[in-house]
Amino acid sequence: MKKQQSLLFEISKQGRIAYSLPESDIPALDEQPIPEAFLRESAPRLPEVSEGQLMRHYVGLANRNFGVDTSFYPLGSCTMKYNPKINETIARLPGLAHVHPYQAEATVQGMLSMLYDMQTILGELTGMHSVSLQPAAGAHGEWAGLMMIKAYHEQKGDSGRDTVIVPDSAHGTNPASANVAGYKTVTVRSNDQGLVDIDHLKELVNEKTAALMLTNPNTLGLFESSIIEMADIVHQAGGKLYYDGANLNAILGKVRPGDMGFDVVHLNLHKTFTGPHGGGGPGSGPVGVVKELADYLPKPVLEKGTEGYYWEHDRPLSIGRVRSYYGNIGIVLRAYAYILAMGKDGLNEVSTQAVINANYLKLKLSKWFDVPYPEHCMHEFVVSGKPQKKLGVRVLDIAKRLLDYGYHPPTIYFPLNVEECMMIEPTETESKETLDEFAEALGKIVQEIIETPELVQEAPHTTVIKRLDETRAARKPVLIYEWNEEA
Ligand SMILES: *Cc1c(COP(=O)(O)O)cnc(C)c1O
Repeated sequence: MKKQQSLLFEISKQGRIAYSLPESDIPALDEQPIPEAFLRESAPRLPEVSEGQLMRHYVGLANRNFGVDTSFYPLGSCTMKYNPKINETIARLPGLAHVHPYQAEATVQGMLSMLYDMQTILGELTGMHSVSLQPAAGAHGEWAGLMMIKAYHEQKGDSGRDTVIVPDSAHGTNPASANVAGYKTVTVRSNDQGLVDIDHLKELVNEKTAALMLTNPNTLGLFESSIIEMADIVHQAGGKLYYDGANLNAILGKVRPGDMGFDVVHLNLHKTFTGPHGGGGPGSGPVGVVKELADYLPKPVLEKGTEGYYWEHDRPLSIGRVRSYYGNIGIVLRAYAYILAMGKDGLNEVSTQAVINANYLKLKLSKWFDVPYPEHCMHEFVVSGKPQKKLGVRVLDIAKRLLDYGYHPPTIYFPLNVEECMMIEPTETESKETLDEFAEALGKIVQEIIETPELVQEAPHTTVIKRLDETRAARKPVLIYEWNEEA
């Protein structure tokens, strides 16, 4: 049994310190420099511990964490792939890490050329005319894209378009971003094959349609095969097509949203392009548009002139700045390093491997779980725990039991149109052995459900904290140690 980690306050001993500083050689001031009113009356309550204890405390906390560097993390629609460490080294090079956004353009030409190059590459990969690197996350890119579509319609005097159409299999941020951009949303149904129901789409599209937002492959991991027809339907009614490219892993180097008829695309550099993510850290959600929408891009726009790169602020139709400075360029840099390291062929291979891994794992899991969409999947897939539910065990229980086996659970209960859904995205950076071991662990859990269901229903058994109220934990997090005076 592993010893439970003590908190610093609990091991605190008066007078114990974690540092030793030399005597100060700065002469004492004659006068008290801090105004009387700001002086505290007693010393702050801080734990008093040795350097060794301090180190163990933080390493202990770090060990409680789970990440892609710990173990397999098949969280669907999140692309938890390996983040190459060379990217970290490159992003930390002093010449890149220490430039300041207020520096004169002439002194940061290297950084600007990297940003410009990245805009060009992302435009090339998506088939878009122009790209802005400003948005700080996927959802932020969605919102910026919709604001451009809105500005476009308004500029045309077409102000009656107040609705965005979103499929029921869309990522949750899509309807949310549409709402924040001031749109109403209507839901288009999926058909029996898990694809957008074209007849229902035809019923919904009209002169009120501002845009259709689409995730393709959708969250079921299926490629929308009627995409060209859908694009025609929406365009003929005067609407625009928005492509949620957060998970470009499935199509990288194979097809481009621009060629499918899309007008706006956002990408998550912190998913497909290996920016580390999770835990609310910095992300990057560049947004690309077709030529017709280029004037509406966030400003300033990075341009290349005869005397080098410069920021163009004179953009009268721009939706304005969407983020301070030039975006999360630390994440852009990591993605740039990744793209250059992979090259064109390497990126093409990424999607091939991502799709092979997903189909391989899907086939293995079909032995125990329901597979609602048995066709070939793209980078991810869904299976249903309906057979296990009949035995009184929910997919939530299976997810918790996976923690005991050392795996991060997949996304569960999403998309909503699949009962007892598990959405699994293995990514291309996992080996066949890892996929086999994961499948084996799920097979064992299925066996446990038959023999000792309570073992699964009461899981996890090996984590520091067992089941918690996840909604309350997210809404009302307790982030500080609560000092108990008596203890
Ligand atoms: C992750 C994701 C988003 C949202 O990206 P954030 O950076 O978390 O805002 C949007 N759409 C899809 C399909 C995603 O997977």
